Amino acid sequence: MTHKYCCKCQQYLHLSRYHLDTRSVDGRRGTCRTCSGDRRRQQLKELKSREDPKIYAYINRRLQDVSLDWVKVGYTGKSINTRLGWMTTASPFGKEDFPLVAVVSHPDAKKLELVIHRKLALLGERKYEWFRVDVPDVIEVIEQVTGVSNEHTGV
Ligand SMILES: [Zn+2]
Repeated sequence: MTHKYCCKCQQYLHLSRYHLDTRSVDGRRGTCRTCSGDRRRQQLKELKSREDPKIYAYINRRLQDVSLDWVKVGYTGKSINTRLGWMTTASPFGKEDFPLVAVVSHPDAKKLELVIHRKLALLGERKYEWFRVDVPDVIEVIEQVTGVSNEHTGV
């Protein structure tokens, strides 16, 4: 078998178009990569609108340096959409200037935010909740401290 039907879009696609899944009979997922991506985006949308404690990080393109971004790392008990809404109404810049790079839900997010800030301050310049640190390093610190994988995938 080299091709199979995606159970969502019903397209007949090559196996390489499906993510690996060791638990399935043919070693591939039932939905194609595109449809899996759609589900991932749906999950993110749902995650962003959920009102549970979260650590989030976004960059400010207006302050972008040649090599490093300024990354804001914060805590919110509100949904990320609400949080980003406040931010963009309080700012003369558009939302596209503040792309989200990380979202992690954790019941102790408020406490862990302080631990994350301390660790990030060791890696680079700090101004309040802003850090001039490589984005991948920020994500790594957030994941290490919370023990949760970044739920944001860049969409
Ligand atoms: Zn599909």
